Amino acid sequence: MATEGDAVRTNTQGFNQGRYESVADLDEYETVKDEARTIKEDAIDRLPELIDQLRSTVENNGGTLYLADDAADANRYVRTVVGDGSEKTVVKSKSMTSEELNVNEALEADGHDVIETDLGEWVLQVAEETPSHIVAPAIHKSRAAIAELFEEVFSPTEPLETAEELTVFAREKLGEWIQEADVGMTGANFIAADTGTIALVTSEGNARKTVAGTDTHIAVAGVEKIVPTVEDLQPFVELIGRSGTGQDITSYVSLLTPPVETPVIDDTDEETPLSEIDDDREFHVVLIDNGRMAMREDDDLRETLYCIRCSACSNVCANFQQVGGHAFGGETYSGGIATGWEAGIEGLDVAGEFNDLCTGCSRCVDACPVNIDIPWINTVVRDRINQGHEENFDFLVDGLTPDNEAGSPPLQKRFFGNFETVARLGSTLAPVSNWLAETTVSRQLLHRLLGIDPRRDLPTFHRRTLIDRFQDRETTVDTPRRRAVLYPDLYTNHVQIERGATAVRVLEALGVDVAVPSVPSSGRAPLSQGMITTARSHAERISDTLAPYIADGRDVVVIEPSDLAMFEREYERLLDPAAHERLATNSYEIMEYVFGLLENGADDAPLRDGDGTEVAYHSHCQQRTLDVEAHTVAVLERCGFDVLTSDVECCGMAGSFGYKSEYFDVSMAVGDELRDQFTAPETRERTVVASGTSCLEQLDSLLERRPTHPIELLVDRSPTE
Ligand code: SF4
Repeated sequence: MATEGDAVRTNTQGFNQGRYESVADLDEYETVKDEARTIKEDAIDRLPELIDQLRSTVENNGGTLYLADDAADANRYVRTVVGDGSEKTVVKSKSMTSEELNVNEALEADGHDVIETDLGEWVLQVAEETPSHIVAPAIHKSRAAIAELFEEVFSPTEPLETAEELTVFAREKLGEWIQEADVGMTGANFIAADTGTIALVTSEGNARKTVAGTDTHIAVAGVEKIVPTVEDLQPFVELIGRSGTGQDITSYVSLLTPPVETPVIDDTDEETPLSEIDDDREFHVVLIDNGRMAMREDDDLRETLYCIRCSACSNVCANFQQVGGHAFGGETYSGGIATGWEAGIEGLDVAGEFNDLCTGCSRCVDACPVNIDIPWINTVVRDRINQGHEENFDFLVDGLTPDNEAGSPPLQKRFFGNFETVARLGSTLAPVSNWLAETTVSRQLLHRLLGIDPRRDLPTFHRRTLIDRFQDRETTVDTPRRRAVLYPDLYTNHVQIERGATAVRVLEALGVDVAVPSVPSSGRAPLSQGMITTARSHAERISDTLAPYIADGRDVVVIEPSDLAMFEREYERLLDPAAHERLATNSYEIMEYVFGLLENGADDAPLRDGDGTEVAYHSHCQQRTLDVEAHTVAVLERCGFDVLTSDVECCGMAGSFGYKSEYFDVSMAVGDELRDQFTAPETRERTVVASGTSCLEQLDSLLERRPTHPIELLVDRSPTE
């Protein structure tokens, strides 16, 4: 898969960093987010009632509200308003909803001129391209590329090189069109049902000119843009700029209650360019359903309607940063939440074209100002796509796969989703299985049949698993300060046995009675492939197996952060509330647990003295979302290590994602960021440490130094039995 170049990466990373800084300055950030979420939940809940209220308000204000069933219906209405008798000039401010409608094409077919007045949108209109980002549409175009485009299309008298020269040129051209325009078309970030006030958030002020410079204003907006009252706009104004571009407030926040009462500007009349208040100003708000009311009835897609299109989920996404919105997007929308929009508006086929680019890393969850569970929406859509899939190889696997899927997921998804079975077979047949998997014929078959990239190293399975080794072993701790289950995740159990054994050793050294029972895998593997029914069955079996241990007073300690995220986050969707609560509140990431032990009086003398050893640490994406990253750093520092932490959002491997041939290049491009950080002069001699299995695999392939898990730093390396 092609990446979209440096411009997207540089700009999205800049926005993302700006978000971190801007939200840090907002007191009560989480409270404001909760407030925004509550308003959205209420608005979508009462949507039919609010549409009726807004209709009355708009009509009382002197405007018209049209509720369009779909894009064709909306365009029909807009064409009627603009009229087909004579050629008109329609100026538009930025509106993704109007992109969804393809209203430009509809009006141009009637002979009208349609001009985008947002600089980015205009650049794309000139270039005949579509947006690559929902907030910064021309994010993929460099200054040099825009200069070349203007030179080719406009042949300016003076060469245009600097950003300022390009902007001045564009502003003059757009200014002329706005002066000539007959109709102004805007979108609406929000519309208040009680007053009819439209909030428009822009960087350039062109939306105001579009409205003030024309005597007919058409606003197009999805029905989900309605909020109950004008006071409800406040938290969104606080959040939208910070979340999107990292600005405390966007350059222009326009609150218009149309028809606006400012005089219409007559540029041809130099004496009196401002007429008296023009009673003839027309205003039409076109509310678009286009699948949204059905999304409202859909328990899983409904959350999509809370989206305020800030773009934070795109900017924080490591894959989006590499590939941009043309690859990571559908007909109109791009980024993580686009799966929900495109599935609801266009259908599963369109969503399926890019849905697999979401790896479920969950970095967008914290970033979203209205707390939308974007990875879950992606998972649900993937599951629905799987259900409709017909696999040619089904005859090979029918009855042989242990998953619980009613549908027929693609063979590759089925393989990765059933990785527990693969690992069991691998261990049972080791070392023959490891030798066999590495033969040229096997690698070619794995590549051709399952799309597993031959450039990736395959895991080496151990015949004697961690469970085999510790299940019946007596604890070495006489008077334990805590009792715990060490959760034997799939990789630790079958592949990284020594890591698991080291974890047991550290915990026992800190006075913990450790049990390693036989427990199924968490269901992360099937969930990541959109196999929700199978993942639910894993969750239920885990819950049943661990419940007696928890009832017996044991904590659950987890090495793999993505499994902890299953217990704490995803199981909320898969288990009954009591079972989820029981597991979530009793589970800990291993370094978080060590931190807790040390804070509560455990003696750190048995742990290795770091003695100033310099460490370069990459935490797992799920670990950061769960807010347990700091514990690792704190423990390592307490033990005398000198820790420098990467700020890369994701290593790029993301479970099976990096193994898939079609995504190998994206995975490595994402990983390059991490390689650059860990080969910089200040880090190149440091010991590389990472918390996630995937991160460790990726770092192993990116660097010449072998990475290690933080728990392995805490003891001298000697085998444990
Ligand atoms: S899903 Fe959330 S983060 Fe993404 S664009 Fe919508 S509001 Fe912003």
